Amino acid sequence: MDGLMKGKRGLIMGVANDHSIAWGIASKLAEAGAELAFTYQGEGFGRRVRPLAQKLGSTLVLPCDVEDIATVDAVFETLKSEWGSIDFVVHAIGFSDRNELKGRYADVTTRENFSRTMVISAYSFTEVAQRAAPLMSAGGSILTLTYGGSVRVMPNYNVMGVAKAALEAMVRYLAADYGQDGIRVNAISAGPVRTLAGAGIGDARAMFSYQRKNAPLRRTVDIAEVGNSALYLLSDLSSGVTGEIHYVDSGFNITSMPITSELNK
Ligand code: NAD
Repeated sequence: MDGLMKGKRGLIMGVANDHSIAWGIASKLAEAGAELAFTYQGEGFGRRVRPLAQKLGSTLVLPCDVEDIATVDAVFETLKSEWGSIDFVVHAIGFSDRNELKGRYADVTTRENFSRTMVISAYSFTEVAQRAAPLMSAGGSILTLTYGGSVRVMPNYNVMGVAKAALEAMVRYLAADYGQDGIRVNAISAGPVRTLAGAGIGDARAMFSYQRKNAPLRRTVDIAEVGNSALYLLSDLSSGVTGEIHYVDSGFNITSMPITSELNK
């Protein structure tokens, strides 16, 4: 894929470390010739993200906490003054109180954490798109990350599933609104990946083992595979694709009865 992204510039939001899905995506984009800027949430992550960004030749590494809209504004102002325009944005941001990611949704969900989860994990995508679109004068591609707990009940995913459902609806509304400007908006629905955010979900180990037994490919996916699909969605290879939720989950979403169920014996 050498050169596929040559001449394209974009922003990667959501690298925490080299296990992050956003890092898998950034690595593939850089390999394909893209020029990247990164955001990090707080100085603790900044210390990890700066050397990673440097590895990919990036010098624009900016603080951004989506709960503080002034920091989001500042990122896009910097991109405007440094680059003038951008071609793509990756939003790989999610958060919820881990105490509400275990047990029954009906029992554990509070108003306070519901609102916070919605703002960080869903609404921030709208705010990012609103600021990215004016910088995409020649069109562009905006990508977010979701999980199948949005459309089917996954034990413990709880309020994150509700937020991801909102995020996926947002992908469709934003795709409809920005289509006339040549801006495409899509999501990747990734299967479970071992990351900091993934570790916050109750019984994550059981989810992995169930996926390995029951997904059509009989395995989980890795961040390089998510990165390859992101490369397609962020490049001109997918020029006719918008408003799509693209599954990169070893096919798990197509299954109904577990493949290992009694019926298959
Ligand atoms: P990760 O922990 O590596 O990344 C999550 C990122 O969200 C971190 O960089 C963190 O700093 C950022 N973040 C959280 N709150 C923020 C805030 N207020 N402001 C700015 N940034 C904030 O984990 P990941 O699994 O790579 O998560 C990336 C995305 O992928 C998330 O949206 C997650 O829900 C989604 N996803 C993850 C999986 C999985 O199994 N890991 C599967 C499907 C989708």
